[in-house]
Amino acid sequence: MKTCTTCNVNKELDEFGKHKDMRDGHLNQCKSCRAEYMKNYSSRNAYTISSRHRSYYEKNDERIKTRTRNHWRENAISINEKRRERYNTDEEYRTKVLKQCSDLFDVESTEKKKLPRTI
Ligand SMILES: [Zn+2]
Repeated sequence: MKTCTTCNVNKELDEFGKHKDMRDGHLNQCKSCRAEYMKNYSSRNAYTISSRHRSYYEKNDERIKTRTRNHWRENAISINEKRRERYNTDEEYRTKVLKQCSDLFDVESTEKKKLPRTI
């Protein structure tokens, strides 16, 4: 048992997130307080977080692209199978895909559109 420093409730150790630098290997803040804190943190720091993500992507552009390409090359068959299965079973997904396809091959528009990442 351990007392959360935020809500002061005595809880089981597995209610606390793990942290290797802490003496007992767990954070002093319970998981629900931590989740609340992180939620507030992301809304307070939305700009910092998104610019951090952006700069990570810029620094690792080639690495990320290569990883994505390799992942596709190695898993294309199973990814396509999963998508096909989802297409056949998930009504919402099918509607979304069909919508994207009709947007993509919109005959009114001669401009070539980029394939959305979510297909
Ligand atoms: Zn707590």
